[in-house]
Amino acid sequence: MMDKYLENLNSNIQELINLASTQSAYVSKPLLRHVLQWVELDRNAKKAEVAVLKSALIEGLDVDFTGTQYEVEWHEKGKVCNCSACYVARKCIADIDQILNLHKSDK
Ligand SMILES: [Zn+2]
Repeated sequence: MMDKYLENLNSNIQELINLASTQSAYVSKPLLRHVLQWVELDRNAKKAEVAVLKSALIEGLDVDFTGTQYEVEWHEKGKVCNCSACYVARKCIADIDQILNLHKSDK
């Protein structure tokens, strides 16, 4: 069961990397570094690292646009960023939450 979510997470993370490498959307440098490391891990290590990955995703989400040309629009949207990178990052977080919940019920 958990593996299905790990597969989903893996492909969403891959999508995030693709967005960044094709410069289709902005992904913060620390987050990008983190996901690039994560995809190289083996299956068990990936599972072990999901909680850390989640905090990196949250950290990299909804960039603070204060002082930029996007500031007004960003405030209007309740400081939520709707770019495709944030969209995919939210999907990744949802996948991680599923994995973490399953993990809890295992015990
Ligand atoms: Zn964004």
